[in-house]
Amino acid sequence: MVRAIVGANWGDEGKGKITDMLGQESDIIVRFQGGSNAGHTIINDYGKFALHLLPSGVFYGHTTSVIGNGVALNIPYLFNEINEIVSRGVPKPKILVSDRAQILMPYHIAFDAYEEERLGGKSFGSTKSGIAPFYSDKYAKIGFQVSELFAPEEVLKEKVERVVAMKNVLLEHLYHKPLLDPEEVYRTLLEYKDMVEPYVCDVSLFLHNAIKEGKNILLEGQLGSLKDPDHGIYPMVTSSSTLAAYGAIGAGIPPYEIKNITTVVKAYSSAVGAGAFVSEIFGEEADELRKRGGDAGEFGATTGRPRRMGWFDAVATRYGCRIQGATEVALTVLDVLGYLDEIPICVGYEINGEVTKDFPTTAKLEMAKPVLKKLPGWKCDIRGIKNYADLPKECRDYIDTIEAEIGVPITMVSNGPGRDEIIKRK
Ligand code: GDP
Repeated sequence: MVRAIVGANWGDEGKGKITDMLGQESDIIVRFQGGSNAGHTIINDYGKFALHLLPSGVFYGHTTSVIGNGVALNIPYLFNEINEIVSRGVPKPKILVSDRAQILMPYHIAFDAYEEERLGGKSFGSTKSGIAPFYSDKYAKIGFQVSELFAPEEVLKEKVERVVAMKNVLLEHLYHKPLLDPEEVYRTLLEYKDMVEPYVCDVSLFLHNAIKEGKNILLEGQLGSLKDPDHGIYPMVTSSSTLAAYGAIGAGIPPYEIKNITTVVKAYSSAVGAGAFVSEIFGEEADELRKRGGDAGEFGATTGRPRRMGWFDAVATRYGCRIQGATEVALTVLDVLGYLDEIPICVGYEINGEVTKDFPTTAKLEMAKPVLKKLPGWKCDIRGIKNYADLPKECRDYIDTIEAEIGVPITMVSNGPGRDEIIKRK
């Protein structure tokens, strides 16, 4: 059975924790999009880890971790991450890398930084991991697929020359930065070939056979619905699709094999980078929630920068679940809200004097004002509770209200960052 674990919001919903938890019953865990630009924080028996490129199931001895063709593959980064977890006592994971994955090059990272510098105050708030230049090149057909590392020398060299010629025009005339040397780019590719060769695999075929054998496969998404380039808050989005539907493409499996779409929803909102954020809060109210949020405050796993904070947004989350095709929801970080007397949630957007519950496109979103409804807080610590019935009534009411708003069953409630801090509901 194939199950996708994806985010309904702006990312950082706690997908890593849910993947790590469900990894127990899985055979294969696949990353199908994105790169090292967002992190998953995982706390388990080995300690606390911030993974960026490795799938979150990498801590189990029985799972195979797969980098699918849809991923932006930063090869040195992947190997640093493997070495880091192994040096901290995690058994050496079994890793497969798709022969159709494309390689994120050092110049993608440089171009990302140069473009943010050029945009100045109008920048996207990129993590400068090279993701936008990488996917631009992939679709412009000037990227390097892992399989091309194994092409005859003259074929690869000729392509490098062609790509570098284009890059150097931009470097010289737009960014005024040092030019690329084709010889050096070629040498980098050869180094990458040596590193990745033992792991390269026809992932689509591997997964085809695994599905036939009835294996349990998890597709692990990065970021969330609202960062999707088509269905998110364009242009303040990421550069690969964050949707479960893309899991089929980014892993190389038929779409109808994805039977379960576990969509992770955060009990309040947080976002990184620029863009409209209707239920955003500021000042001391935001500082307090940021300080208490997640396992150690809401600060980016990749950049360390403070996340923007807001109340739960039912409009955005219902849309986020719909566009993912959510079959069930895991509601996370609920424990964080235990300090509040009253908990506002955003149940509508007021745009030009009219209230809507439908998530609009970006230009309208920029004009939206939140319609807030206040729910009573439960004023206690719910960590350690194992049974749904033992949650305070106000807390159950908060969950019921969210469930009614989003229209998808909440089957799991996460009440702490640890692997076992989960309440199964139905
Ligand atoms: P991801 O990218 O969706 O995996 O999310 P992140 O790892 O960036 O952010 C989630 C943060 O919340 C991490 O620091 C987790 O350890 C933490 N976390 C996940 N679930 C819970 C929860 O139920 N309660 C608390 N307090 N923290 C949680």
